Amino acid sequence: MPQHLNPMAFAIPLFLALMGAEWWYSRKTGKHYFNFRNSISNLNVGIAERLIDTFTTGIFYFVYLYLYKHFALFHFKSSILQWIALLICTDFIWYWYHRLAHEMNIFWAAHVVHHQSDDFNYTVSARITVFQAIIRTGFWAVLPVLGFAPGMITSMLLVHGLYPFFIHTRTIGKLGFLEYFLVTPSHHRVHHASDEDYLDKNYGDVFIIWDKLFGTFVAETHEPVYGLTKPLESHSFLWQHFHFYLELLHGVRRTEGFKNKIKLIFGKPDLLDPTIRPKLEEKYLLRNDTVQATRRLHDYVVIQIAITLAGLFTFLLLEYYIPAFVQALITLFILITLINCGAILEQRRWVFYLEYARFSLIFIAAYCYFPYAALLWIPALVLPMALYYDSKLKQQYLRLVYGRTA
Ligand SMILES: [Zn+2]
Ligand SMILES: [Zn+2]
Repeated sequence: MPQHLNPMAFAIPLFLALMGAEWWYSRKTGKHYFNFRNSISNLNVGIAERLIDTFTTGIFYFVYLYLYKHFALFHFKSSILQWIALLICTDFIWYWYHRLAHEMNIFWAAHVVHHQSDDFNYTVSARITVFQAIIRTGFWAVLPVLGFAPGMITSMLLVHGLYPFFIHTRTIGKLGFLEYFLVTPSHHRVHHASDEDYLDKNYGDVFIIWDKLFGTFVAETHEPVYGLTKPLESHSFLWQHFHFYLELLHGVRRTEGFKNKIKLIFGKPDLLDPTIRPKLEEKYLLRNDTVQATRRLHDYVVIQIAITLAGLFTFLLLEYYIPAFVQALITLFILITLINCGAILEQRRWVFYLEYARFSLIFIAAYCYFPYAALLWIPALVLPMALYYDSKLKQQYLRLVYGRTA
């Protein structure tokens, strides 16, 4: 058995099994906790984050190491007390990171992705992005400066990062005395709600004590309505990730005076003019709501995501053995697949061209392992031919996927 397998890869089948169990339960009990398009979008966002994470984790570690070596105020000895102190500090910093992620536009632009789903189930826990991870690392940079060793910090962040998976569910009610000090599914349901009385509440990750201390705690007293107060209504992978950055950029451009611009960047989301989004959607997001999703489209997306998840699991498990260049190609391939699935859900016609890109990438990656010139000749010959018969092929493809040509 190879020595350098990454055991963290097994989190993927474990979490998928839990999602499956939750889906089965919600179907059996007639509760509609899952919407097909929302769940696929949630998984897509999570797959991208997991993938890019393999490149950024090392960088984050070196940031902590550098700060620890050069700026540590203390050098704690490893002990059980230190681990407890680290857990409390990590959770305290998380509270402020999360609260500011809701209260400042520059951070909300990244965190909004986590709140875009109108559902609330385990797939929502996957809605995290690498941009959030970068911002969080900035906040957690306090930990090595305080004197916690980088190895300890990364281990703690792993546990701290796994915990929130379990609180994204409607299947678990209130948890008795645990409700007093832990963040429970009930507390986190309130956080994901768009109801007036639930807005901007329950920011905690593991302990709910910070919310109680700083006045942002609310108990769940009625069934929440999930999602954003201004729902996004788009499953486009790219739009979900970048819409708020564009809105903010647009808002800043339109604001007069340097001071006012800074105020908008670091101010609350409701400072941003709500008329900006519809204008940008008109420009970048051609709506195509008239066509209903077909069974074929549904199957095509499910098969792609199933293969991608299997690919992601293998990629993470064998990461050590895959050369960096091939890792980059696989990442690119999977990202194109995610964009493809999002665009298919939106019934876009340009998805056809993404297939060209995926086709070429397969041969380039294969060539890296088996350097036979024939592997490059195949796409070099097939692609010009495909382009020659472009309109016919495109019609066939769109008929196959959407059951229509236009
Ligand atoms: Zn949040
Ligand atoms: Zn959440």
